[in-house]
Amino acid sequence: MIKVAINGYGTIGRRVADAVRMQKDMTVVGIVKANPDYVAQEASKTFRVYAIMKENIEAFRKENIDVQGELETLLGEADIVVDATPEGQGEKNIELYRKHKVKAILQGGEKSSVTGISFNAYSNFTDSWGKDYVRVVSCNTTGLARTMSVIKEKFGVMKVDATLVRRATDPNDSRKGPINSIEPSLKFPSHHGPDLKTVVQIPEATTVAIKVPTTLMHVHSVNVTTEKTLAQNDVSDLFSGYRRIIGVSGKAGITSTAQVMDMAREMGRKRGDLFEIAVWKESIYASGNNLRYIQAVHQESDVVPENVDAIRSMMQAMDKEKSLSETDRAMQIGGI
Ligand code: NAD
Repeated sequence: MIKVAINGYGTIGRRVADAVRMQKDMTVVGIVKANPDYVAQEASKTFRVYAIMKENIEAFRKENIDVQGELETLLGEADIVVDATPEGQGEKNIELYRKHKVKAILQGGEKSSVTGISFNAYSNFTDSWGKDYVRVVSCNTTGLARTMSVIKEKFGVMKVDATLVRRATDPNDSRKGPINSIEPSLKFPSHHGPDLKTVVQIPEATTVAIKVPTTLMHVHSVNVTTEKTLAQNDVSDLFSGYRRIIGVSGKAGITSTAQVMDMAREMGRKRGDLFEIAVWKESIYASGNNLRYIQAVHQESDVVPENVDAIRSMMQAMDKEKSLSETDRAMQIGGI
């Protein structure tokens, strides 16, 4: 059993903890919470809870939350830590992980230079094989990397240019906006294009990002220049057979992110998560060397299966196909 510690139990950390718990070959040895809030209360029913530092332990006990100790104690018990602390904190924590000789996965909010290796299960599983420090790319980059790896494999990719319509914040966060405006990223390309190139080898990737007042999902309008010349019938079943990409359709009543998220709830997914990238079937258009499509990304959950596979790659536990199948079977991704 691979012993996994989760440091940072927010949007991403709590989902990775659940996903690890579902696997046969790994276990959660503990989670680290910053505050003794309602999330800590609930977590303590399932996981061993640790505070960041000794000084914080008393605050948890005052709220009747059973605390096992501090982060450094937990690190002594783990083979690998999934760091899902707020962006920038992972970089600070890495020294501590080195000190305790524990492998660590950082998330997409960290700079790629901090680990040197970035991860996406479809595009570069083996690059993380046996490595000590790896970054799972962000929700947006994961979405782009998944579909782009398929296109690259089938048709070759010369260039990608995508417009990313980004959710303002997550559903549990009432501090951030915008609440009544549309906020373009003033940097071109936005960081997502260069970030995509850390996991998929493509000559050119440019992105524009625009933040809108919604919490549900991101939507990407993707424009790819392919190596192969295409006709519409070449792309009729473009993503079928790839479990982490799901085709959705206006004909089935899915015309916006509201229905994509409702579909995930109808699928019975915990927290209404959609681990798969949803591609609108009607939006897939091919002509000459141009391929276009529109996809929706559930920012809170698409990186979760990637964290599980990154653990196996870093621990040299399973090869790519076996790991992806195991993760998908345990999490019921793609109808497995
Ligand atoms: P979050 O704010 O929801 O959760 C972070 C948690 O860490 C919070 O519970 C916070 O209290 C806790 N925390 C704060 N400081 C800490 C510390 N020093 N030690 C331990 N815990 C601490 O953040 P998130 O959205 O889960 O993001 C975590 C990482 O994942 C970031 O790098 C982010 O960029 C990345 N990411 C986020 C999303 C998303 O859409 N939310 C998607 C993909 C990747």
